[in-house]
Amino acid sequence: MSTDNAMVIVGASLAGARAAETLRGEGFEGPVILIGSEDETPYERPPLSKDYLMGKHGRDKLYVQPREWYGEHKVDLRLGTTVTAIDPAAHEVVLGDGSRVGYGKLLLTTGSSPRHVPVPGGDLDGVLYLRQVQDSDRIRAAFEHASRVAVIGAGWIGLETAAAARNAGAEVTVLEMAELPLLRVLGREVAEVFAKLHTDNGVDLRTGVHVAEITGSDGKASGVRLADGSPIDADVIIAGVGITPNVQLAAEAGLRVDNGVITDAQLRTSDPDVFAAGDVANAFHPLIGKHIRVEHWANARHQPVAAAKAMLGQDVAFDRVPYFYTDQYDLGMEYAGYVEPDGYAEVVFRGDVPGREFVVFWLGGDGRVLAGMNVNIWDVNDAIAALVRSGQPVGRDALADASVPLDSLA
Ligand SMILES: Cc1cc2nc3c(=O)[nH]c(=O)nc-3n(C[C@H](O)[C@H](O)[C@H](O)COP(=O)(O)OP(=O)(O)OC[C@H]3O[C@@H](n4cnc5c(N)ncnc54)[C@H](O)[C@@H]3O)c2cc1C
Repeated sequence: MSTDNAMVIVGASLAGARAAETLRGEGFEGPVILIGSEDETPYERPPLSKDYLMGKHGRDKLYVQPREWYGEHKVDLRLGTTVTAIDPAAHEVVLGDGSRVGYGKLLLTTGSSPRHVPVPGGDLDGVLYLRQVQDSDRIRAAFEHASRVAVIGAGWIGLETAAAARNAGAEVTVLEMAELPLLRVLGREVAEVFAKLHTDNGVDLRTGVHVAEITGSDGKASGVRLADGSPIDADVIIAGVGITPNVQLAAEAGLRVDNGVITDAQLRTSDPDVFAAGDVANAFHPLIGKHIRVEHWANARHQPVAAAKAMLGQDVAFDRVPYFYTDQYDLGMEYAGYVEPDGYAEVVFRGDVPGREFVVFWLGGDGRVLAGMNVNIWDVNDAIAALVRSGQPVGRDALADASVPLDSLA
Protein backbone atom coordinates (compact mmCIF):
# COMPACT_ATOMS: atom_id res chain seq x y z
CA MET A 1 0.00 0.00 0.00
CA SER A 2 1.29 3.46 -0.82
CA THR A 3 1.99 5.50 2.27
CA ASP A 4 2.28 8.90 0.52
CA ASN A 5 -0.88 10.12 2.24
CA ALA A 6 -0.30 8.11 5.42
CA MET A 7 -0.71 9.72 8.79
CA VAL A 8 2.10 8.30 10.90
CA ILE A 9 2.07 8.76 14.67
CA VAL A 10 5.19 8.01 16.70
CA GLY A 11 4.40 7.22 20.34
CA ALA A 12 1.46 4.92 21.12
CA SER A 13 0.24 6.26 24.42
CA LEU A 14 -2.63 8.58 25.36
CA ALA A 15 -1.70 11.38 22.94
CA GLY A 16 -0.96 9.03 20.04
CA ALA A 17 -4.17 7.04 20.50
CA ARG A 18 -6.27 10.20 20.75
CA ALA A 19 -4.79 11.47 17.50
CA ALA A 20 -5.65 8.18 15.76
CA GLU A 21 -9.21 8.37 17.14
CA THR A 22 -9.58 11.91 15.83
CA LEU A 23 -8.24 11.15 12.36
CA ARG A 24 -10.83 8.40 11.98
CA GLY A 25 -13.53 10.44 13.72
CA GLU A 26 -12.98 13.28 11.25
CA GLY A 27 -13.50 10.88 8.36
CA PHE A 28 -9.92 10.39 7.17
CA GLU A 29 -9.90 7.17 5.16
CA GLY A 30 -6.21 6.82 4.28
CA PRO A 31 -3.63 4.82 6.25
CA VAL A 32 -3.16 5.64 9.93
CA ILE A 33 -0.04 4.04 11.41
CA LEU A 34 0.49 4.25 15.16
CA ILE A 35 3.97 3.15 16.24
CA GLY A 36 5.02 2.64 19.85
CA SER A 37 8.02 1.22 21.68
CA GLU A 38 5.96 -0.32 24.46
CA ASP A 39 4.30 -3.71 24.01
CA GLU A 40 1.12 -2.60 25.75
CA THR A 41 -2.02 -1.34 23.99
CA PRO A 42 -2.04 2.47 24.49
CA TYR A 43 -2.95 3.24 28.09
CA GLU A 44 -3.38 6.11 30.52
CA ARG A 45 -0.73 6.68 33.19
CA PRO A 46 -2.47 8.56 36.05
CA PRO A 47 -3.81 5.37 37.73
CA LEU A 48 -0.25 3.95 37.82
CA SER A 49 0.48 6.06 40.91
CA LYS A 50 -3.06 5.86 42.33
CA ASP A 51 -5.80 3.21 42.08
CA TYR A 52 -3.88 0.76 39.91
CA LEU A 53 -0.82 0.99 42.17
CA MET A 54 -3.05 0.39 45.20
CA GLY A 55 -4.58 -2.66 43.53
CA LYS A 56 -8.04 -1.08 43.37
CA HIS A 57 -8.48 -1.94 39.71
CA GLY A 58 -6.86 -4.00 37.02
CA ARG A 59 -5.14 -3.29 33.72
CA ASP A 60 -8.34 -3.41 31.71
CA LYS A 61 -9.33 0.01 33.08
CA LEU A 62 -6.11 1.67 31.84
CA TYR A 63 -6.60 1.36 28.10
CA VAL A 64 -7.51 4.38 25.99
CA GLN A 65 -9.42 2.02 23.67
CA PRO A 66 -9.80 -1.76 23.79
CA ARG A 67 -7.29 -3.60 21.58
CA GLU A 68 -9.97 -4.55 19.00
CA TRP A 69 -10.79 -0.88 18.39
CA TYR A 70 -7.59 -0.38 16.39
CA GLY A 71 -8.34 -3.20 13.96
CA GLU A 72 -11.98 -2.21 13.69
CA HIS A 73 -10.93 1.34 12.74
CA LYS A 74 -8.12 0.22 10.43
CA VAL A 75 -5.47 1.80 12.61
CA ASP A 76 -2.22 -0.06 11.95
CA LEU A 77 -0.99 -0.36 15.54
CA ARG A 78 2.66 -1.40 15.63
CA LEU A 79 3.63 -2.08 19.21
CA GLY A 80 7.10 -3.03 20.46
CA THR A 81 8.45 -0.94 17.58
CA THR A 82 10.82 1.98 18.04
CA VAL A 83 11.35 4.72 15.51
CA THR A 84 15.07 5.43 15.42
CA ALA A 85 15.15 8.34 12.97
CA ILE A 86 13.06 10.69 10.89
CA ASP A 87 14.09 11.47 7.35
CA PRO A 88 12.14 14.68 6.64
CA ALA A 89 13.42 15.04 3.08
CA ALA A 90 12.20 11.54 2.10
CA HIS A 91 9.07 11.84 4.29
CA GLU A 92 9.96 8.58 6.02
CA VAL A 93 10.59 7.31 9.51
CA VAL A 94 13.19 4.62 10.14
CA LEU A 95 12.30 1.71 12.43
CA GLY A 96 14.59 -0.24 14.75
CA ASP A 97 14.97 -3.05 12.17
CA GLY A 98 16.13 -0.54 9.54
CA SER A 99 12.89 -0.62 7.55
CA ARG A 100 11.22 2.62 6.55
CA VAL A 101 7.64 3.85 6.70
CA GLY A 102 6.58 6.74 4.50
CA TYR A 103 4.33 9.53 5.71
CA GLY A 104 2.31 12.35 4.28
CA LYS A 105 2.03 13.94 7.71
CA LEU A 106 3.86 12.87 10.84
CA LEU A 107 2.84 13.39 14.47
CA LEU A 108 5.33 13.06 17.31
CA THR A 109 3.75 11.98 20.59
CA THR A 110 6.91 10.55 22.09
CA GLY A 111 6.14 11.80 25.60
CA SER A 112 8.74 11.99 28.30
CA SER A 113 11.01 9.82 30.44
CA PRO A 114 11.91 9.96 34.12
CA ARG A 115 15.03 11.87 35.02
CA HIS A 116 17.54 9.67 36.85
CA VAL A 117 18.92 10.52 40.27
CA PRO A 118 22.47 11.65 39.50
CA VAL A 119 24.16 10.25 42.60
CA PRO A 120 26.39 7.24 43.32
CA GLY A 121 24.24 4.15 43.75
CA GLY A 122 21.46 5.57 41.57
CA ASP A 123 21.48 2.41 39.45
CA LEU A 124 21.31 -0.12 42.31
CA ASP A 125 18.57 -2.72 42.30
CA GLY A 126 15.68 -1.47 44.40
CA VAL A 127 15.80 2.10 43.09
CA LEU A 128 12.52 2.30 41.26
CA TYR A 129 11.11 4.81 38.78
CA LEU A 130 7.49 5.14 37.73
CA ARG A 131 6.46 5.75 34.13
CA GLN A 132 5.23 2.51 32.60
CA VAL A 133 2.66 -0.03 33.73
CA GLN A 134 5.43 -2.53 34.49
CA ASP A 135 7.04 0.03 36.82
CA SER A 136 3.77 0.30 38.71
CA ASP A 137 3.55 -3.53 38.91
CA ARG A 138 7.11 -3.64 40.25
CA ILE A 139 6.44 -1.00 42.88
CA ARG A 140 3.20 -2.64 43.95
CA ALA A 141 5.03 -5.98 44.34
CA ALA A 142 7.80 -4.25 46.32
CA PHE A 143 5.22 -2.65 48.65
CA GLU A 144 3.96 -6.13 49.57
CA HIS A 145 7.21 -6.85 51.38
CA ALA A 146 8.48 -3.37 52.22
CA SER A 147 8.32 -1.99 55.71
CA ARG A 148 10.29 1.19 54.95
CA VAL A 149 9.96 3.18 51.75
CA ALA A 150 12.02 6.25 50.87
CA VAL A 151 10.72 8.55 48.17
CA ILE A 152 13.18 10.95 46.55
CA GLY A 153 11.39 14.03 45.24
CA ALA A 154 8.12 15.55 46.51
CA GLY A 155 6.53 16.30 43.15
CA TRP A 156 3.20 14.84 42.04
CA ILE A 157 4.53 11.33 41.33
CA GLY A 158 6.59 11.22 44.53
CA LEU A 159 3.70 12.37 46.71
CA GLU A 160 1.11 10.09 45.10
CA THR A 161 3.48 7.15 45.46
CA ALA A 162 4.14 8.08 49.08
CA ALA A 163 0.38 8.04 49.70
CA ALA A 164 0.11 4.61 48.05
CA ALA A 165 3.01 3.32 50.17
CA ARG A 166 1.27 4.54 53.34
CA ASN A 167 -1.89 2.84 52.08
CA ALA A 168 0.15 -0.38 51.79
CA GLY A 169 1.20 0.01 55.44
CA ALA A 170 4.83 1.03 54.99
CA GLU A 171 6.75 3.64 56.95
CA VAL A 172 7.48 6.37 54.44
CA THR A 173 10.18 9.03 54.32
CA VAL A 174 9.93 11.67 51.61
CA LEU A 175 13.14 13.54 50.76
CA GLU A 176 12.83 16.90 49.05
CA MET A 177 15.50 19.42 48.14
CA ALA A 178 13.17 22.44 48.27
CA GLU A 179 11.75 23.92 51.44
CA LEU A 180 8.29 22.48 50.75
CA PRO A 181 6.76 19.85 48.45
CA LEU A 182 5.49 21.25 45.11
CA LEU A 183 6.86 24.68 46.03
CA ARG A 184 7.72 25.67 42.47
CA VAL A 185 4.37 24.54 41.07
CA LEU A 186 2.00 25.82 43.74
CA GLY A 187 3.87 28.47 45.70
CA ARG A 188 4.30 28.51 49.48
CA GLU A 189 0.68 29.04 50.53
CA VAL A 190 -0.68 25.87 48.88
CA ALA A 191 2.53 23.82 49.14
CA GLU A 192 2.04 24.03 52.90
CA VAL A 193 -1.35 22.31 52.53
CA PHE A 194 0.33 19.36 50.79
CA ALA A 195 3.13 19.22 53.37
CA LYS A 196 0.56 18.99 56.16
CA LEU A 197 -1.51 16.42 54.26
CA HIS A 198 1.46 14.09 54.22
CA THR A 199 2.67 14.67 57.77
CA ASP A 200 -0.94 14.22 59.00
CA ASN A 201 -0.90 10.86 57.22
CA GLY A 202 2.26 9.75 59.01
CA VAL A 203 4.90 10.54 56.37
CA ASP A 204 8.32 11.58 57.65
CA LEU A 205 8.70 14.58 55.33
CA ARG A 206 12.25 15.91 55.16
CA THR A 207 12.55 19.09 53.16
CA GLY A 208 15.63 21.16 52.34
CA VAL A 209 17.70 17.96 52.14
CA HIS A 210 20.13 16.74 49.50
CA VAL A 211 20.55 13.08 48.63
CA ALA A 212 24.29 12.39 48.38
CA GLU A 213 24.25 8.65 47.75
CA ILE A 214 22.06 5.59 47.52
CA THR A 215 23.66 3.04 49.76
CA GLY A 216 23.50 -0.72 49.42
CA SER A 217 25.34 -3.98 49.23
CA ASP A 218 25.50 -6.83 46.69
CA GLY A 219 24.05 -4.49 44.08
CA LYS A 220 20.86 -3.95 46.13
CA ALA A 221 19.83 -0.59 47.54
CA SER A 222 19.27 -0.45 51.28
CA GLY A 223 19.03 3.24 52.01
CA VAL A 224 19.94 6.79 51.29
CA ARG A 225 22.71 8.95 52.70
CA LEU A 226 22.00 12.66 52.84
CA ALA A 227 24.60 15.36 52.21
CA ASP A 228 24.79 16.10 55.95
CA GLY A 229 25.77 12.46 56.45
CA SER A 230 22.49 11.25 57.96
CA PRO A 231 21.37 7.79 56.83
CA ILE A 232 17.79 6.82 55.88
CA ASP A 233 17.18 3.07 55.88
CA ALA A 234 14.75 1.79 53.26
CA ASP A 235 13.80 -1.52 51.61
CA VAL A 236 12.42 0.31 48.60
CA ILE A 237 13.55 3.62 47.14
CA ILE A 238 11.35 5.42 44.66
CA ALA A 239 12.76 8.27 42.64
CA GLY A 240 10.40 10.92 41.32
CA VAL A 241 12.70 13.75 40.37
CA GLY A 242 11.00 14.96 37.24
CA ILE A 243 10.87 14.03 33.59
CA THR A 244 12.51 15.13 30.38
CA PRO A 245 10.72 15.28 27.03
CA ASN A 246 11.73 12.63 24.48
CA VAL A 247 13.04 15.04 21.84
CA GLN A 248 15.96 13.07 20.46
CA LEU A 249 14.25 12.03 17.20
CA ALA A 250 13.09 15.58 16.53
CA ALA A 251 16.44 17.13 17.39
CA GLU A 252 18.35 14.71 15.18
CA ALA A 253 15.95 15.44 12.32
CA GLY A 254 16.78 19.13 12.63
CA LEU A 255 13.41 20.23 14.04
CA ARG A 256 13.40 23.19 16.40
CA VAL A 257 13.72 21.90 19.94
CA ASP A 258 13.86 23.87 23.17
CA ASN A 259 12.41 22.27 26.29
CA GLY A 260 10.36 20.02 23.99
CA VAL A 261 9.55 20.14 20.32
CA ILE A 262 8.61 23.72 19.44
CA THR A 263 5.25 24.05 17.67
CA ASP A 264 2.85 26.80 16.73
CA ALA A 265 -0.72 26.89 18.06
CA GLN A 266 -1.70 24.34 15.39
CA LEU A 267 0.88 21.94 16.85
CA ARG A 268 2.98 22.21 13.69
CA THR A 269 6.73 21.95 14.21
CA SER A 270 9.39 23.84 12.26
CA ASP A 271 8.77 21.27 9.47
CA PRO A 272 5.29 21.93 7.98
CA ASP A 273 4.52 18.20 7.59
CA VAL A 274 5.55 17.24 11.13
CA PHE A 275 3.40 17.91 14.20
CA ALA A 276 3.90 17.27 17.92
CA ALA A 277 1.49 16.93 20.85
CA GLY A 278 1.34 15.81 24.47
CA ASP A 279 4.22 15.87 26.96
CA VAL A 280 6.81 16.31 24.21
CA ALA A 281 5.35 19.48 22.65
CA ASN A 282 6.36 22.97 23.65
CA ALA A 283 3.44 24.63 21.92
CA PHE A 284 2.52 28.26 21.45
CA HIS A 285 -0.56 28.86 23.59
CA PRO A 286 -2.65 31.79 22.29
CA LEU A 287 -4.39 32.44 25.62
CA ILE A 288 -1.19 32.48 27.63
CA GLY A 289 0.71 34.26 24.88
CA LYS A 290 3.83 32.12 24.93
CA HIS A 291 5.14 28.61 24.36
CA ILE A 292 4.35 26.18 27.17
CA ARG A 293 5.03 22.49 27.65
CA VAL A 294 2.42 20.76 29.77
CA GLU A 295 3.18 17.39 31.37
CA HIS A 296 -0.38 16.49 32.23
CA TRP A 297 -3.12 14.08 31.27
CA ALA A 298 -5.66 16.63 30.00
CA ASN A 299 -3.12 18.11 27.64
CA ALA A 300 -2.25 14.65 26.29
CA ARG A 301 -5.96 14.00 25.88
CA HIS A 302 -7.02 17.19 24.09
CA GLN A 303 -3.98 18.59 22.31
CA PRO A 304 -3.64 15.67 19.83
CA VAL A 305 -7.25 16.23 18.79
CA ALA A 306 -6.25 19.69 17.57
CA ALA A 307 -3.02 18.32 16.05
CA ALA A 308 -4.90 15.64 14.10
CA LYS A 309 -7.37 18.21 12.77
CA ALA A 310 -4.48 20.45 11.72
CA MET A 311 -2.88 17.44 9.96
CA LEU A 312 -6.12 17.17 7.98
CA GLY A 313 -5.82 20.80 6.96
CA GLN A 314 -8.42 22.21 9.33
CA ASP A 315 -7.90 25.67 10.79
CA VAL A 316 -7.54 25.01 14.50
CA ALA A 317 -5.64 26.53 17.39
CA PHE A 318 -5.15 24.74 20.70
CA ASP A 319 -5.99 27.22 23.46
CA ARG A 320 -7.65 25.18 26.23
CA VAL A 321 -6.96 26.36 29.75
CA PRO A 322 -4.36 23.90 31.14
CA TYR A 323 -5.85 21.43 33.64
CA PHE A 324 -4.53 18.76 35.96
CA TYR A 325 -5.62 16.78 38.97
CA THR A 326 -4.32 14.62 41.76
CA ASP A 327 -5.68 12.19 44.34
CA GLN A 328 -3.74 11.58 47.55
CA TYR A 329 -5.25 9.95 50.67
CA ASP A 330 -8.66 11.62 51.08
CA LEU A 331 -7.69 14.71 49.07
CA GLY A 332 -8.83 15.07 45.48
CA MET A 333 -8.19 18.26 43.58
CA GLU A 334 -8.42 19.82 40.15
CA TYR A 335 -6.35 22.77 38.92
CA ALA A 336 -7.06 25.04 35.96
CA GLY A 337 -4.75 27.75 34.68
CA TYR A 338 -1.08 28.45 34.38
CA VAL A 339 1.31 30.21 36.75
CA GLU A 340 5.07 30.38 36.41
CA PRO A 341 7.09 29.80 39.60
CA ASP A 342 6.80 33.07 41.59
CA GLY A 343 4.63 34.39 38.77
CA TYR A 344 1.69 35.52 40.92
CA ALA A 345 1.06 38.49 43.19
CA GLU A 346 -1.49 37.12 45.62
CA VAL A 347 -3.29 33.96 46.74
CA VAL A 348 -6.95 34.03 47.77
CA PHE A 349 -8.64 31.12 49.57
CA ARG A 350 -12.37 30.44 49.84
CA GLY A 351 -13.66 27.72 52.14
CA ASP A 352 -12.17 25.53 54.83
CA VAL A 353 -8.40 25.22 54.36
CA PRO A 354 -7.61 23.25 57.58
CA GLY A 355 -10.50 20.90 56.75
CA ARG A 356 -9.11 20.57 53.19
CA GLU A 357 -12.34 21.63 51.49
CA PHE A 358 -11.61 24.84 49.67
CA VAL A 359 -10.93 26.67 46.43
CA VAL A 360 -7.78 28.73 45.97
CA PHE A 361 -6.96 31.33 43.34
CA TRP A 362 -3.61 32.68 42.19
CA LEU A 363 -3.94 36.30 41.06
CA GLY A 364 -1.70 38.42 38.87
CA GLY A 365 -0.65 41.95 39.89
CA ASP A 366 -3.57 43.32 37.86
CA GLY A 367 -6.12 41.22 39.78
CA ARG A 368 -6.63 38.65 36.99
CA VAL A 369 -7.15 35.03 38.00
CA LEU A 370 -4.15 33.16 36.60
CA ALA A 371 -5.15 29.80 38.05
CA GLY A 372 -7.46 28.19 40.54
CA MET A 373 -7.65 24.88 42.33
CA ASN A 374 -10.66 23.15 43.87
CA VAL A 375 -9.80 20.79 46.71
CA ASN A 376 -12.47 18.25 47.72
CA ILE A 377 -15.10 20.54 46.16
CA TRP A 378 -16.52 19.43 42.84
CA ASP A 379 -18.30 20.80 39.77
CA VAL A 380 -16.59 24.21 39.98
CA ASN A 381 -13.56 23.65 37.78
CA ASP A 382 -15.30 24.81 34.60
CA ALA A 383 -16.17 28.07 36.38
CA ILE A 384 -12.54 28.44 37.47
CA ALA A 385 -11.34 27.83 33.91
CA ALA A 386 -13.85 30.46 32.69
CA LEU A 387 -12.43 32.99 35.18
CA VAL A 388 -8.92 32.28 33.89
CA ARG A 389 -10.05 32.52 30.28
CA SER A 390 -11.90 35.82 30.81
CA GLY A 391 -8.64 37.62 31.63
CA GLN A 392 -10.66 40.18 33.60
CA PRO A 393 -9.70 41.39 37.10
CA VAL A 394 -11.94 39.85 39.78
CA GLY A 395 -12.44 41.37 43.24
CA ARG A 396 -10.64 39.41 45.94
CA ASP A 397 -13.59 39.74 48.38
CA ALA A 398 -15.96 38.08 45.94
CA LEU A 399 -13.41 35.34 45.26
CA ALA A 400 -12.99 34.70 48.98
CA ASP A 401 -16.73 34.66 49.72
CA ALA A 402 -18.06 31.11 49.38
CA SER A 403 -21.64 32.43 49.13
CA VAL A 404 -20.86 34.11 45.77
CA PRO A 405 -21.30 31.53 42.97
CA LEU A 406 -18.09 31.27 40.96
CA ASP A 407 -19.90 31.16 37.64
CA SER A 408 -21.35 34.62 38.39
CA LEU A 409 -17.84 36.10 38.45
CA ALA A 410 -16.51 35.16 35.03
C1 LIG B 1 2.61 7.56 37.22
C2 LIG B 1 2.03 8.77 36.54
C3 LIG B 1 0.93 9.41 37.11
C4 LIG B 1 0.40 10.55 36.51
N1 LIG B 1 -0.67 11.16 37.10
C5 LIG B 1 -1.21 12.26 36.53
C6 LIG B 1 -2.31 12.92 37.15
O1 LIG B 1 -2.79 12.53 38.20
N2 LIG B 1 -2.83 14.02 36.54
C7 LIG B 1 -2.34 14.51 35.38
O2 LIG B 1 -2.85 15.50 34.88
N3 LIG B 1 -1.29 13.89 34.76
C8 LIG B 1 -0.70 12.79 35.31
N4 LIG B 1 0.37 12.16 34.71
C9 LIG B 1 0.91 12.71 33.45
C10 LIG B 1 0.26 12.09 32.22
O3 LIG B 1 0.11 10.73 32.35
C11 LIG B 1 1.12 12.44 31.00
O4 LIG B 1 1.04 13.82 30.81
C12 LIG B 1 0.70 11.68 29.75
O5 LIG B 1 0.95 10.31 29.91
C13 LIG B 1 1.45 12.17 28.53
O6 LIG B 1 1.04 11.42 27.44
P1 LIG B 1 1.86 11.35 26.07
O7 LIG B 1 1.08 10.42 25.21
O8 LIG B 1 2.16 12.71 25.62
O9 LIG B 1 3.28 10.72 26.46
P2 LIG B 1 3.67 9.34 27.17
O10 LIG B 1 2.57 8.88 28.05
O11 LIG B 1 5.02 9.56 27.78
O12 LIG B 1 3.82 8.34 25.97
C14 LIG B 1 4.80 8.43 24.99
C15 LIG B 1 4.93 7.09 24.32
O13 LIG B 1 5.81 7.22 23.22
C16 LIG B 1 6.67 6.09 23.16
N5 LIG B 1 7.88 6.46 22.41
C17 LIG B 1 8.81 7.38 22.75
N6 LIG B 1 9.78 7.45 21.82
C18 LIG B 1 9.44 6.55 20.86
C19 LIG B 1 10.04 6.16 19.63
N7 LIG B 1 11.18 6.70 19.21
N8 LIG B 1 9.45 5.19 18.89
C20 LIG B 1 8.28 4.64 19.31
N9 LIG B 1 7.64 4.98 20.46
C21 LIG B 1 8.22 5.93 21.22
C22 LIG B 1 6.92 5.79 24.63
O14 LIG B 1 7.38 4.48 24.80
C23 LIG B 1 5.54 6.02 25.22
O15 LIG B 1 4.76 4.87 25.17
C24 LIG B 1 0.95 11.02 35.30
C25 LIG B 1 2.06 10.38 34.74
C26 LIG B 1 2.59 9.27 35.36
C27 LIG B 1 3.79 8.58 34.76
